Amino acid sequence: MVGYESVGGVAVVTLANPPVNSFGHEQRLKVVEAVLRADADPQIKAVVVIGSGKGFSGGADIREFGSSRALAPPSLHMVLATVEALGKPVIAAIDGVCMGGGLEFALACHYRVITPEAQLALPEVKLGLLPGAGGTQRLPRVVGIERALSMIVSGNPVSGRDLRGTALPDAIAEGDLRSAALEFARGLIAEGRGPRRVRDLKIPEANAEALVQFARTAVKAAAGPFPAPPACVEALAAAVREPFEGGLRRERELFVNLMASPESAALRHIFQAERAASHIEGIPESTPARPLNRVGVIGAGTMGGGITMALINAGIPVVLLESTQAALERGLATIRGNYQGQIKKGKLTSEALEKRLALITPTLEYEPLHGVDLVIEAVFEKLEIKKEVFLRLDAVVREGAILASNTSALNLDTIAGFTRRPRDVIGLHFFSPANIMRLLEVVRGKATADDVLVTAMSLAKRIRKVAVVAGVCDGFIGNRMVAGYSQAAHDLVVAGASPQQVDRALEKFGMAMGPLRMNDLAGLDVGAMWRHRLAAENPDKDYAHVTDRMVADGRHGQKTGAGWYLYPPGSRLPEPDPKVDAYIEEFRAARQLKARRVSDTEIVERCIYALVNEGARIVEEHIAQRSSDIDIVYLNGYGFPLWRGGPMFHADQVGLASVAAALRRIAATAGPNAPFWQPAPLLERLAASGGSFSQGKGAAA
Ligand code: NAD
Repeated sequence: MVGYESVGGVAVVTLANPPVNSFGHEQRLKVVEAVLRADADPQIKAVVVIGSGKGFSGGADIREFGSSRALAPPSLHMVLATVEALGKPVIAAIDGVCMGGGLEFALACHYRVITPEAQLALPEVKLGLLPGAGGTQRLPRVVGIERALSMIVSGNPVSGRDLRGTALPDAIAEGDLRSAALEFARGLIAEGRGPRRVRDLKIPEANAEALVQFARTAVKAAAGPFPAPPACVEALAAAVREPFEGGLRRERELFVNLMASPESAALRHIFQAERAASHIEGIPESTPARPLNRVGVIGAGTMGGGITMALINAGIPVVLLESTQAALERGLATIRGNYQGQIKKGKLTSEALEKRLALITPTLEYEPLHGVDLVIEAVFEKLEIKKEVFLRLDAVVREGAILASNTSALNLDTIAGFTRRPRDVIGLHFFSPANIMRLLEVVRGKATADDVLVTAMSLAKRIRKVAVVAGVCDGFIGNRMVAGYSQAAHDLVVAGASPQQVDRALEKFGMAMGPLRMNDLAGLDVGAMWRHRLAAENPDKDYAHVTDRMVADGRHGQKTGAGWYLYPPGSRLPEPDPKVDAYIEEFRAARQLKARRVSDTEIVERCIYALVNEGARIVEEHIAQRSSDIDIVYLNGYGFPLWRGGPMFHADQVGLASVAAALRRIAATAGPNAPFWQPAPLLERLAASGGSFSQGKGAAA
């Protein structure tokens, strides 16, 4: 856990708590023990603290979050105070990762020797917090207020090389870090230099006050609803204004406030939820992934093109198959065009573009797919076409390769049934644009083999997606929930709200885009197709929709320039269209409905609780492994506001008893729609027992 060695009068204390030497309880205890041992030994004249493995230290131990171990003494504050107060010089020898509490520890040491490649950061702001162990007070004293502001407010890492010229490093180790640190320690001993504490240094800039004032205005404007970035500025302002102890007190105060803020709770929930999402229920961690060196993509349309880009961006060669030469050329041209856009923005070089495109093998034949390890099918959403493709793939692709479909709504088990190897079939549901959207729903068919799932999850990591496992059902997790959400929005328009009012109310709640604008973007024809299929499967249910007539009139949404809104040529900005009122009126008249006043509160309540209610059903049916997975889907695929932590977390914050009560109230007047609004059994149970999604069934692991 912590090593101790005496090397010619220097104690070398090695942090060793893999993977990132975090300051878990045991490491805190052992570090204090080690430095006190060095202090007590008259032979020891200086102490070097050095990391191991991935570097110095990643800070707090996230495995301890929320447990009593996190709070067990000695706290990180006590560790830092012990080190700082030591009578013999303590040198932090820093390489690799040096973040959060790890960097705060290094700043409490008396000297720092760092490698040019070391990565230093105080990333607490990303969890809605600020560095709470003196980081905001010590960092500006060594790097200056301007740089400290930038590091603490952004949370982004800087390299040891970048910190040359500041007082953070006392020496840069170009060669072996341990030798350099020992040499530095011996130099201190030879010169008789004792501890030099950062707390005693002065912030270097004469205009520090003005810099803080400037940052105050700029950061407030950029932070939106998040309180942490402005609080970081306030903590740094205290470093400028107050003596060290006073600054520490202010930092503590601000930290405690942030810790209690709903925004930080949401960000910490998301952090844990992303980690939990990669764990697959019932599959041992040790299950090996299949090799994945070459991938086939079928279809070079919107999705196939984006998927190909996501793969080649990660350096994975792709065999791209189309049905016609024209479609293939169109697809390749779109891919090239997208990259050229990135070149124009300075995000990519022409060499990198050519290197990426060279990874694509375009083809009209199935033969080149023989050697691939995975095929991702992204052809038209028609079962007969998928069948034809999967029959061909089954015949050509080598045994042991994985066959994936990007279908949005077709039954994956039916698709798997077209092959003689349903164990090797999986759904990889990308979101559009697939090269940009982070979300990937990994659809587990009833026969999908464990190692196929594990391979899909590891591919997701490789191509920088956040993957969530979903079971087979209509719409999987995301689109199934969005169906109810959109239906609620539609019904509010029928009840009397304008499309603009519905969208505005939800955008004010924090959604990146209101539901009707989102429908326009996805294509009203796509929604209509989905409803027609459901109507055929459930002839007793009413799927009539205002947009049925719009679609019949060629209003398919943004792509046709008109849908719930008008989109003038070349514009993606929605404009209200009086003709839409006529469609709505006609729909109401046919049902003898009268428009009523609808409040913004009602809009948000209905739409968001429709999401939550369907989410509860999805967890109960094991379509999602846990409620936090649903949050990940909504945050990454549907523009749910980060600071609310996702629909299920939001419901927990509101209180499930209130959510259930609201749903019951709506159900009571919903007539034939009552079953839709009736609280899901899981929601009812949790509400009755005072439970929450995150603590009850469906907790993040
Ligand atoms: P698209 O129409 O843009 O592209 C489909 C492509 O497949 C076309 O280029 C077509 O030429 C090609 N194709 C058709 N039949 C083929 C065959 N037999 N062999 C080879 N190529 C063939 O469609 P899209 O939007 O990219 O959707 C593709 C799939 O992805 C569908 O299953 C769809 O449901 C799913 N999906 C779409 C989205 C989206 O937002 N567009 C999101 C997620 C999933």
